[in-house]
Amino acid sequence: MRVYNFSAGPAVLPEEVLQEAADEMLDYKGTGMSVMEMSHRSKAYDAIIKEAEKDIRDIMNIPDNYKVLFLQGGASQQFAAVPMNLMKNRKAAYIVTGQWAKKAYQEAKIYGDAVAVASSADKTFSYIPDCSDLDIPEDADYVYICENNTIYGTKFKTLPNTKGHTLVADVSSCFLSEPVDVTKYGVIYGGVQKNVGPAGLVIAIIREDLITDDVLPGTPTMLKWKTQADNDSLYNTPNCYAIYICGKVFKWIKKMGGLEAMKAHNEKKAKILYDFLDSSKLFKGTVEPKDRSLMNVPFVTGNEELDAKFVKEATAAGFVNLKGHRTVGGMRASIYNAMPIEGVEKLVEFMKKFEAENG
Ligand SMILES: *Cc1c(COP(=O)(O)O)cnc(C)c1O
Repeated sequence: MRVYNFSAGPAVLPEEVLQEAADEMLDYKGTGMSVMEMSHRSKAYDAIIKEAEKDIRDIMNIPDNYKVLFLQGGASQQFAAVPMNLMKNRKAAYIVTGQWAKKAYQEAKIYGDAVAVASSADKTFSYIPDCSDLDIPEDADYVYICENNTIYGTKFKTLPNTKGHTLVADVSSCFLSEPVDVTKYGVIYGGVQKNVGPAGLVIAIIREDLITDDVLPGTPTMLKWKTQADNDSLYNTPNCYAIYICGKVFKWIKKMGGLEAMKAHNEKKAKILYDFLDSSKLFKGTVEPKDRSLMNVPFVTGNEELDAKFVKEATAAGFVNLKGHRTVGGMRASIYNAMPIEGVEKLVEFMKKFEAENG
């Protein structure tokens, strides 16, 4: 029996994608082998990676002057790759809205002068700071954001005013959750295990003029975006199987009606949960309402023992992975693209019942 999996990542995937992969496990389209057993230089695999790229380009409406790279090392590896590839002046502006943004900021400091131009640390990252008029150093090579803060449940609803500087965004936990204007960014990247596919793959969408040989001295060949771009993400053996699954998820998104439809589906789910939190006497959302994420919804009862009781009883009832991040406690429901609406409806029913019994 499948459970309702509210994990922040690796996370729920569309059931029909998993079923299709299962059907193709032993014999992929008459090749007599699994995609896992296939050469990344084979004709069959070439078709898989090319089609995956074509589909994500269609879905996100990615302009021709952007490259799509399928890379390893997860999102965290890009925390170093970003400064290595972009810090020509060894200066960058970081907006620190949570732990992932902070990790990226700290990593960048190894390579140059990373400046925190805004932060929401003063209120445990429960809001997005006003980024309309920041003091961005003139010679900053880029401005960096984590667009959706997985742990705290906040999301940038408007992009920061970068004052003409290149915008770099970690979109790991909001990837393909709604339409996006790619032209506003220099670099968009995300680990796929939050909303798109299996762990260990990061997709980076990078404007071509930012992909050059002019990288920091000592940049490993593998971390130089140009190496990967020149070789169509096949410089070495990529995460073949993860790319294959992502390709199936792209097809699923297309079938569901693309990113507009995903957004409507996600807004509907989030509204059910937030409306309940706003009316509940027991459960409370922890985020400034205007900055609420559609993907990650943290909440508390205000009583740690009751939180633990809730998580335990929810798990027994088939609602799993609701425990909040180890650094913040409470609960968190991650309701990514593949979470069906019934999952959220039933969770709210369960919360109402728990409230009646424990309120
Ligand atoms: C999960 C997450 C990461 C880390 O991803 P890894 O692939 O484990 O390195 C980075 N940024 C955000 C926003 C995340 O949610």
